[in-house]
Amino acid sequence: MAEAATMEPTVESAESESHDFQAETQALLSLVINSLYTHREVFLRELISNASDALDKARVRSLTEHDLLGEDKKLEVVIRPDKAAKTLTIADSGVGMTREELQRFLGTIAFSGSKEFAKRLSGDAAKDASLIGQFGVGFYSAFLVAERVDVTSRAAGVTEAEQAWRWSSAADGKFALAPATRARRGTDVVLHLRDEHLEFLETWKLRELVRKYSDFVGYPISLETEETEGEGADEKTARSCEVINRGTALWTRPKAEVTDEQYAEFYKHVSHDWDEPLARTHFTVEGQQLFTGLLFLPKHAPFDLFHRDGRSGIKLYVKRVFVMEECKALLPEYLRFVRGVIDSDDLPLNVSREVLQHDRHVEQIQRTVARKTVDMLEELAKERPDDYATFWREFGVVLKEGLHLDHDLKDRLAKLCRWESSGREGLTSLADYVARMPEGQPAIYYISGQDKAFLAKSPHIEGLKAKGWEVLYFTDAVDEWVATAVPEFEGKKLVSATKGAFSADGEQKADADPKADPEWGGLLELMKNALGDRVKAVRMTDRLTESPVCLVAGEHDLGANLERILKQHAPNQAMLGGKRTLELNGKHPLLQNLKRLQPDLSQREHLREWTEVLYDQALLTEGSPIADPVLFAERMSKLLLEVSSRALGAPAAEAPAADAPAAPKLEA
Ligand code: ADP
Repeated sequence: MAEAATMEPTVESAESESHDFQAETQALLSLVINSLYTHREVFLRELISNASDALDKARVRSLTEHDLLGEDKKLEVVIRPDKAAKTLTIADSGVGMTREELQRFLGTIAFSGSKEFAKRLSGDAAKDASLIGQFGVGFYSAFLVAERVDVTSRAAGVTEAEQAWRWSSAADGKFALAPATRARRGTDVVLHLRDEHLEFLETWKLRELVRKYSDFVGYPISLETEETEGEGADEKTARSCEVINRGTALWTRPKAEVTDEQYAEFYKHVSHDWDEPLARTHFTVEGQQLFTGLLFLPKHAPFDLFHRDGRSGIKLYVKRVFVMEECKALLPEYLRFVRGVIDSDDLPLNVSREVLQHDRHVEQIQRTVARKTVDMLEELAKERPDDYATFWREFGVVLKEGLHLDHDLKDRLAKLCRWESSGREGLTSLADYVARMPEGQPAIYYISGQDKAFLAKSPHIEGLKAKGWEVLYFTDAVDEWVATAVPEFEGKKLVSATKGAFSADGEQKADADPKADPEWGGLLELMKNALGDRVKAVRMTDRLTESPVCLVAGEHDLGANLERILKQHAPNQAMLGGKRTLELNGKHPLLQNLKRLQPDLSQREHLREWTEVLYDQALLTEGSPIADPVLFAERMSKLLLEVSSRALGAPAAEAPAADAPAAPKLEA
C-alpha cells in the first residue's frame, strides 16, 4: 500500500514542517522548470551523473565491505526507453537507497542546503537561476520532461529482492513511499514522459545526448532497445543492449583532442554546476610523482563557501579508478573553490582519508595543485581581466586567506589581489597601483572600512588625494590582515591612511613636545587636557585639507576598523585598541580661531567644550560610535542657538539644558 509522506526535511516530525517544505519544493520546481525549459535535455546528464556517483560509492565501499557487491560485480548504467509505456528508465547498479535515504535525499531539496536555498530565493528569475548551480538540485530536473517520476531502489548489502522501496511523485508537493521489489542492487529512475517530450524515447536522440553530455563517464552506459518482429500471434520482441559511451576518462586524453564543450560538460558532471566553468587547467606531472589534474574555476561561489564543513570539489582517482569524493587533502583551504579531478599513479587504491592527511606524496600533490591553480589564475588575470574580476568578486576573500597560510606562494598571491581605489573605477592590483605612483610618492596607501562610498569621503585621505596619491579601499574584513601579511610590495611599504603620523616622505616621526611649538603649543595642551585619557596626544597634521580634525591610531596599533570588527566578534571585551591621537588641521579657519582664542582665560570653558564637539566629530566621520550622542546633540543645539541668535542680532538666549562641559567619558 502506498504511503503518503509529507515532504519535510527531517524524518522524525512528519507533520510539522510539511508546509514549509512545500513552499520550498514549489519554488524550486518552478525555478528549475522556468529557467531550464530551453535546456530540457540536461535531465539526462543529471540522472546519469547521479547514477555514476552511486556507482562510485558502491565501488569505494566494496573495498572495505568485501561482500557488498556479492555475485553481481557489474557496475553499469542502463538506459531503457519504452515507447508503449511512454517511460524512460535510467537504471544503475550503484549503492541504491534505503527507505530512509529515499525520503531524505529525494524528499528534501539538495538536502543540506535546503533552508539556505529557500532563504536566498529572491523572486528575480535570472538571479534565482544561478542558485540552482550553487545548490545542485539535479534530480529535480527529471520533472523537466516527466509528469511523474518513480524511483525504485534497493540499497547495496540488502539481500532480499523484496526489500526495495519505491518513491514516487508528480511534483505536486507530495510524494509517496511504498515497498517494492528489485532483482539487483541499485536504482531505477522511471520517467513518465509528457506527450510533448516523447522524442526522448528515440534511440538516436539518446545516443546523441549521451555522447554530448556523458561520454566520459567511467562506467559503461548501455542503451537497451526493443525490436518487434512478426505480426499477430507471431509477434516477438527482441531486446538488445549496446554500450554507447566511450568511457575514457577525459583527463587522460591529450588536450588537443578535447573540445571546450567537452571540458565544460565534464565540469558540469563533476561539479553539479549548471553553468560553464570560468577557467580550467589540465596538466600531467611527471618526476617523483606521476599524476594528472583537471581543475576548474566555477563562476559562482557555492552557498557553503564559508561553512566549516562545506563541500570540497576535488575527486581523487588512482590509475583511472575513482577513489574518493571531496578530497580535501589535495587542496589548501584557501583554494577550496576549485573543482575537478586528480588522478594519481602512485597512491594505493584503498587509500583512506586518514592516510591521505599524513601522506608525503599527498603533500607534494597539494603543493603542485596549488601552484597549478595559481598559474591558472595568473593566466586568467592577464588574458581575461573581466573574467578575473568575476572570479575575484566571488572568491577573492577566500584567496586572500592564502597570504597568511601559504608562505611559498604568498608573493604570487599578493599580485593576484585586487581592490577598489580612489584612483580609478573598478579593481586594481598592487602592481598597477605602483606603476601609477607619481614621482615622490613614498608608499602604497590604504584605508580600511566597511564600504567604499564612506571611505572615499574619509577625512583621513584628504591630504593624500590632494597630492594625487592613490588610496586602496580595504573593504573586506580580511583586508585588515593583508597589510600584516604583505608589509611591502616591490619595495614600497603598505601604509594605513588612518595610522601613524602622516609625512610626505613616508617616514614615521615621533610626536614632538607641544611645548616646543610656539604657535600651536598652547592649544594642543589645552585640548589634550580637556580630553584627558581618551587620547594619546593632540598634534598638528598635513593629513587633512578640508576637515578640521581626525583621529589616528599608532603605527602598530589596531585601528578603528579592526577594533570594530573584533568587537563584533567579542562584544564584551574591554577596549581592545590602544589610545589614539587627535590630529588638527592648522589651515582650517576654525582651528585658526581657536588658536587665537586660546590665550584668553575667559574662553577656557568654551574651548574645552568645543574640543569635545570636535572629538565627537572625529569619531563620527570615521564611523565610530560616540560615547554620549545626547550630550553631543545638546552641544550642537547650543552652538546653533548662539549662531542663529547672533544672526538675528539678539543676545544669545540661555539654552534649556546648558550643561557644563562634561567630565571625560570613555567610548562605549
Ligand atoms: P546532488 O546529486 O547534487 O546531491 P540530487 O538532487 O541530484 O542532488 O540528488 C540528491 C541525492 O540523492 C544524491 O546526493 C544521492 O545521495 C541521492 N541519489 C540521487 N540519485 C541516486 C541514485 N541513482 N542512486 C543512489 N542515490 C542517488
